[in-house]
Amino acid sequence: MKTPARTAIIAGNWKMNFGPLQAATFAGEILSDLVPLVEASSHIISIICPPAISLAAVQHAMREQYHQRIELGAQNMYFEEKGAFTGELAPSMVSELCTSVILGHSERRAYFGESDELVNKKTLAALRHGLRPIVCIGERPDQYDAGQTREVIASQSLHSFGRLPAEHVKEVVIAYEPIWAIGTGKAATAEGAGEVISYIRQLFGEMYGDEAALAVRILYGGSVTSDNIGEFMAHPDIDGALVGGASIKPDFVEIVRKTIETVGM
Ligand code: PEP
Repeated sequence: MKTPARTAIIAGNWKMNFGPLQAATFAGEILSDLVPLVEASSHIISIICPPAISLAAVQHAMREQYHQRIELGAQNMYFEEKGAFTGELAPSMVSELCTSVILGHSERRAYFGESDELVNKKTLAALRHGLRPIVCIGERPDQYDAGQTREVIASQSLHSFGRLPAEHVKEVVIAYEPIWAIGTGKAATAEGAGEVISYIRQLFGEMYGDEAALAVRILYGGSVTSDNIGEFMAHPDIDGALVGGASIKPDFVEIVRKTIETVGM
């Protein structure tokens, strides 16, 4: 069930959209609506995750229209501290600008070969640097059709967010994103997503104890819009959403508005 300590999170994954110029413009536009909204409710955090090259531009826009519960997140990072890793971002670099980092998104797993083991190393590195990891897990369409969802989720959970240090387990955020729902317009039902999310919470409890399971925030992701966010947020185990397509549209503000209608002021 939801607890007041589990502040809702609505995170926007802009994916590979908006270079610095466009990002600054779009961030400026949505922040003028987001800031007063978030100001009105202490039960929500909104995290904007632009492409790495646009992080500084969005941070600048956020300083001009500031609210402490509107945060900046990266879409990925490497686990090494520094060195000859061309094209990668170190955790310490990300933590200079961001509070959070999305890790193990299904697109990174599918197109860039990221394994659970790599995601685990990145998760541990994020926690060492005071970054909030948003760890993505979710089954493929063929696994869903074959009724293997629980099996896949159990394995991904064990290997992606296993071995976490006890003092940091509550800082992890998990995003359950069934791959068949991402970018397809075919969202899971709140009941279906809620069932898997309750299962993830149970698994987390088996790994880290009941107190951690009650505290960990688990988001749903996959074709979330302002039309369906209310149903997801009404589920007692769903603590927010990771939003892709709708996060680069004004609808993102409506998603936050509808979330506040559910979580209250
Ligand atoms: C995502 O990329 O994490 C995502 C959930 O995308 P969409 O909202 O477009 O399905």
